[in-house]
Order: sequence, then C-alpha cells, then structure tokens
Amino acid sequence: MESKKQVAGKTFDGWMSEFPILTDIVSTKAVFWTNPHYKPFEHAVPSLSEADIADAEARLKRFAPYIAEAFPETKEVGGIIESPLVPIPQMQEELERQFGGAIPGRMLLKCDSHLPVSGSIKARGGIYEVLAHAEELAMQHGMLSVHNDYTVLHSDRFRQFFSNYSIVVGSTGNLGLSIGIISAKLGFSVTVHMSADAQQWKKDLLRSKGVSVVEHATDYSKAVEEGRKQAEADPTCYFIDDENSKRLFLGYAVAAFRLKGQLERLEIPVDQDHPLFVYLPCGVGGGPGGIAFSLKQIYKEHVHCFFSEPTHSPSMLLGLLTGLHDQVSVQDFGIDNKTSADGLAVGRPSRFVGKIIEPLLSGTFTVDDETLYTLLYTLSKKENIELEPSALAGMPGPYRLLHSNAGVSYLKEHGLIDKLGNSTHMVWATGGSMVPEPIMSEYMAKGSGSNG
Ligand SMILES: *Cc1c(COP(=O)(O)O)cnc(C)c1O
Repeated sequence: MESKKQVAGKTFDGWMSEFPILTDIVSTKAVFWTNPHYKPFEHAVPSLSEADIADAEARLKRFAPYIAEAFPETKEVGGIIESPLVPIPQMQEELERQFGGAIPGRMLLKCDSHLPVSGSIKARGGIYEVLAHAEELAMQHGMLSVHNDYTVLHSDRFRQFFSNYSIVVGSTGNLGLSIGIISAKLGFSVTVHMSADAQQWKKDLLRSKGVSVVEHATDYSKAVEEGRKQAEADPTCYFIDDENSKRLFLGYAVAAFRLKGQLERLEIPVDQDHPLFVYLPCGVGGGPGGIAFSLKQIYKEHVHCFFSEPTHSPSMLLGLLTGLHDQVSVQDFGIDNKTSADGLAVGRPSRFVGKIIEPLLSGTFTVDDETLYTLLYTLSKKENIELEPSALAGMPGPYRLLHSNAGVSYLKEHGLIDKLGNSTHMVWATGGSMVPEPIMSEYMAKGSGSNG
C-alpha cells in the first residue's frame, strides 16, 4: 500500500490511524463493525415516513389485479409479489458445528430468492418503480385513475401507449432482470446497461424477452453512468437511478409491513424481551436500506439491522465509516471490487441511502467468497434451498454478532445478553431461484470443494 496516496485530502496512514479497522478492511480480511452513529429510534429522524411506505403499499395493491393477469404464477396469491419466511433449524445446527459456537434463539430465512417474476430482492424495488412510472404516465394522459380496475393495463391499447416511452437502467444483473421483465411486459422499450460482473445467463434471459442489453467492460458505477447519459438525451426516456431513487427505496420498504404479518402468523414476538436481528446483503444500499428503514419504523429499538458485504466490495462500510458516502470508492483504498457475489459487486455506495440509514443501522460485516460458496452448498444440503452466492452474505451474521468482540460489546451495550434465548435471527436471502441448473451445479461444486 502506498502510504503517500490520499483519499479526500487525507493520507492512507491518516485514515488508518483515525479508523484502525481500515487496516483489516483494505487487506480484505473479514471484519465486524458496529456503527458509532447508531441512535435510539426516537432520535433518528429519517427524511421519509411511514406514510410514504403506506402509499407504496397502496399502489402495489392497485396493481395486484394486473400482476395476477400478466404473471399467472402470481394468480394464486392475488398478484401480490411476496416471499416465504421459513425456519432453518438444520442450517442453524450446522452453522454452530462448522463455526464452533452456539447460536441461541431461532434462525429464519426470508426467501426473497423465491420472489415471483424475477427471483430476487429486486422484484420489490425494481418492479415497484416501473409500476409507479407507468401509473404516472397513464394518469397524465387521462387513461387511468385510481378507481379503475388495473387489469386494463394488460391490453394492446396500453402496450401500444407505453411503447412510445423507454426505460433505462444500469445494473450488475438482478435489477436489470427485474426492470427488464416488468417493463417489457407493460410494453415499454427498455435498455439495460450491464456491468462486467453480470452473469451471462441474466443477459441471455433479458434478450429473449426483447430487452436491449448493453454490455460494459467496467464495473457497476460506470454502467449506471452510461445509462444516465443515454436517458438525458431523450425526454421520453425514464432512467431508473439505483444510486438515488426514492421509488426503488420505497418499493423495498414495503417488505417490512408484510413481514410483520408473517411473524404474527408464525407467533414470533418482537418486543422488549424478544429482540429481532436481521442480516441483509448490501450492494449499493437501496434494497437493504429500504428494508432496514421500514423495519425500524415498525419495531423501533427492538430490531437490530446489520448489513453484509463482500470483503472485496465493502463500499457501504467505507462510506459510513469515513462519512464520505458516495465520495469514496473501494478502489480509492486499493480494494479491487472483484467478487463472485455479483449482486454485491458495487464499489461506491448510495449517498441517499447512506444518509437515511446512518442513525438506524446497527453495523456491517464482511464475508469472503469462499465462505459464501461453502454456505451455499451447506444450505442446499441441510434445508434444500438453493441461492446465488450474494444471497448467502447474511448467513454468517448470527455467529459473527455473537462471537466477535465488537458484536458482544454491542449486545452488552444494548442489554441484550440475557435475551438471546428469546431472540430471532433473520437472514435475508436475496436471490437464486432463477439460476439455471448447470450454473447452480458449478456453485455447488465450488461449495462442496471448500467444505472438504
Ligand atoms: C441487488 C442485490 C442485493 C443488494 O441490493 P442493493 O440495493 O444493491 O444494496 C443483494 N443481493 C442480491 C442477490 C442482489 O441482486
């Protein structure tokens, strides 16, 4: 490491002495960081409110009859795109064995990997933003009102109308998949700018649905920039800005409202005596940020949210730690942003999200690729659930919280040690159900290899 190099006017050595954990972060060692800006909920004043989330939920309800028609696989659930919440006791036992430490409480998996339509967490934010845009356009042209039956959108008349408009997005893969599928279904002309990390099968699938895919040899931030440029040149073109979008954020945020009902149905309390720990894989931040934000609205100080990032792409961690947010990239600190967790291969975090979650997030930890593959294999063997590598990032969370010095300090500081037996650890599984079989076999082979 060149100690003379500067980031935001300060030398590496200067940064390291201010934040000693940086030494491990730049060496791509797995770290567990607790957030010094975390505040009791009543003192954290986010710029969005519960009413904003309720508005998003109401919009999704208006669209539900359309979704049920356009995507028959959602008919049974009335066109509401939601995922299962399942206990994973065998995995919990196996994690205790593999890591060599107890995990008291109950472990649950939130299977956004199995969300209908696009098989990842992006089926929340991505689809929501396209629907909000379509609704706005149709209303502006007097073709739709909130009192209509939205199944009218599933018609040649509307597809013809939307074909005059285009949608553009930059993505590492899954956001493009979500936006591409819903936009093409509505009739929009849609272009996805893919970063070099994007999986070939995701590009192929999109092209098969008539989506234009532009491939970039560079990383995610550059793909977004190219998308933004394309959209600026054309007034009928709508750019979905993964780094700054309030609509994406709110689409993700609806998750917690629905989760509340799921926990109640499982008779799992979340209160003073029953803490909830949630572990969310983080890329640019919108998905995990929106979900953490809404979980805090509902459960306040009884929910503790942790983000997880690849050891080679700790962008949100660097943004929060240094307070520089989008003014710093992992490359600035000599980290390569190369990871098999393609959904998380983001070198520069969202400032918009970083600012909102700064007082709400309990901490962030990092995970190496080999661990992701091992956990992918283990989860498949123990619970018969298959995920993509990114989606395993939250899985080591309970162990890391319970068995790291920083984690134990957090638990003590918040009076949680005596409550661990009554706690719930929720791991957010963010993608995987659409991975083609041959690719899943490759993942499994990698995971079993390192499993011995
Ligand atoms: C996009 C994505 C995430 C993270 O969401 P961000 O909004 O980028 O933080 C996590 N897991 C998977 C599989 C993803 O595709």
